[in-house]
Amino acid sequence: MRRFCPLIVTGPSGVGKGTVVAALVEACPEIWVSVSATTRPPRPGEQDGVSYFFCSELEFDGLIAADGLLEWAQVHGAARYGTPAAPVAAALAEGRPVLLELDLAGARAAKARLDGARSVFLAPPSWEELVRRLEGRGTESAATRERRLATARTELAAAGEFDIIIVNDRLEQTVAELVEFAGLGAECA
Ligand code: ADP
Ligand code: 5GP
Repeated sequence: MRRFCPLIVTGPSGVGKGTVVAALVEACPEIWVSVSATTRPPRPGEQDGVSYFFCSELEFDGLIAADGLLEWAQVHGAARYGTPAAPVAAALAEGRPVLLELDLAGARAAKARLDGARSVFLAPPSWEELVRRLEGRGTESAATRERRLATARTELAAAGEFDIIIVNDRLEQTVAELVEFAGLGAECA
């Protein structure tokens, strides 16, 4: 069985992580993407168990108490997000290429806990473009957007900690760079 290094993807809110991961999975359906638990409410169109496992604060406390999370973090000073540990272990045991999309704290923790994990920082072509994408998505209030942009400054300053920085300018190019970095060429269309 071929072994793949777990891939951890992070980057500021609005840089395009969700878009890039969706395009990567379309190109490489073998990839298994972890579904996180979160206490944030669903956005329109988001489905429980697909986008996230949407939890109450109490349910999230229960996951932590049961040692059910590989890592968790409070993100943007608001909701909590965490990676259910058992599905990751199962996907790795099956030999699937595993991908985790996490915030900065989660990426650091997961890198320390997952053997051989490789980390990717997705960076915007410019600060102005990041603001444009976040505003263009139109899913957050102005106050939430400001909080996410404040976090983004800290995240961008940490980009050098990652195994690779990929600038998400053209989507196709970003996906191609990820495929190459993760050694997924044979698995992808
Ligand atoms: P994140 O998951 O990092 O918060 P999203 O995937 O929701 O970001 O993307 C934020 C916005 O940027 C979306 O409107 C998306 O369509 C757009 N976007 C993503 N990647 C690109 C790209 N390479 N070029 C232009 N726009 C992009
Ligand atoms: P959003 O609310 O836009 O879906 O995600 C907000 C942030 O939470 C993103 O930076 C995303 O990478 C991060 N995130 C999503 N799932 C997890 C997780 O399981 N753990 C951690 N630490 N961060 C996560």
